[in-house]
Amino acid sequence: MKYLLYALLFLSIANCTAKIHPNTEYGATPEKTAEKSTPQVKNVILLIGDGMGVTQLSTRYYYGDGKINFDRFKHIGLINTSSAREKITDSAAGATAFATGRRSYNGAISVDLDQKSIPIIVEQLSQEGFKTGIISTSAVTHATPACFYAHVAQRKMQEEIAEQLVHSDIDFFAGGGLKYFEDRKDGQNLVQQLRDQGFEIRTDGDVLQHMPTDKKSAFLLADKGMPKMTEGRGSFLPDATKRAIQELNNPQGFFLMVEGSQIDWGGHANDAQYIITETADFDQAIGAALDFAEQDKQTLVVVTADHETGGFTLSAKQTDKGSDYAEIEPSFSTGGHSATLIPVFAYGPGSEDFGGIYKNTDIYHKIKKALAR
Ligand code: MG
Ligand code: ZN
Repeated sequence: MKYLLYALLFLSIANCTAKIHPNTEYGATPEKTAEKSTPQVKNVILLIGDGMGVTQLSTRYYYGDGKINFDRFKHIGLINTSSAREKITDSAAGATAFATGRRSYNGAISVDLDQKSIPIIVEQLSQEGFKTGIISTSAVTHATPACFYAHVAQRKMQEEIAEQLVHSDIDFFAGGGLKYFEDRKDGQNLVQQLRDQGFEIRTDGDVLQHMPTDKKSAFLLADKGMPKMTEGRGSFLPDATKRAIQELNNPQGFFLMVEGSQIDWGGHANDAQYIITETADFDQAIGAALDFAEQDKQTLVVVTADHETGGFTLSAKQTDKGSDYAEIEPSFSTGGHSATLIPVFAYGPGSEDFGGIYKNTDIYHKIKKALAR
């Protein structure tokens, strides 16, 4: 009986396949050929939600209302984010993996275990004519963005990192960190040096309010980190994403990294409201990237995180009778990072390659592969 069922099932599947692909055996029609030709990947937008595990992401579905941009992805995977030495990564080793395709030690900014520089995707693509940008709600010299343009042995060397940004290939940057450029132990004024390198510098106001010029753009809008969403950051992250796309888009292509930095800080603070508001803001930035990619059709958008922070859980409310499944009461297992697998979302040409379970370093290799096709 069982065999008969299998046989019937096989026949019906075979039949369906034949109906769906009538030309498979006899050569494709011209129409089909057009459909099959894979569009080129011209631009890449990599969005990193620092400390965003599946629970942080889940807050989009249990709090607030309105459109959820995570819903727009069809290709989803998971990554193991360990660093070379530690099971649980920090943001420096995590971003080094994305930016260089290599695992290093916690604290490393795009250097290997011997503290030697590893080529960064931004350096490689700039040589091929791409324009490049970074956006962060932390200081632009903080671990995650730093790995995309600097090589230093320890993440805390932020003045050194700022100096390397001045001489990097980056064409657009936005975030906090002004202090590391103008209030430095060595007395250098890097703001002036940035101007000498062809940057227009803005240190206040809204990103979209400033008129674009023909210069490279630097927005340094806070001394260290940008304000929290709950303290009035407003639409900085989605606005800066739109602005960067406008300024970087060119016939040679661009690479843009956008970081929702403070999802991590909410996790460290064990502050659910902080996480919820920062993740919602990150979702808006994803929306800005996807709106462009949908029109452009040659842009690969990848969204992921370096690690989870807080051991964050949407647990049931505890009452004297036990768990009340009607209500969520968020809880945390740690003030640090955790080792849970991290989600990856991809959209656009090459996005089908991002399904499955793999290592954080594969994000780099998959992006390079997508650009090479
Ligand atoms: Mg970060
Ligand atoms: Zn952290």
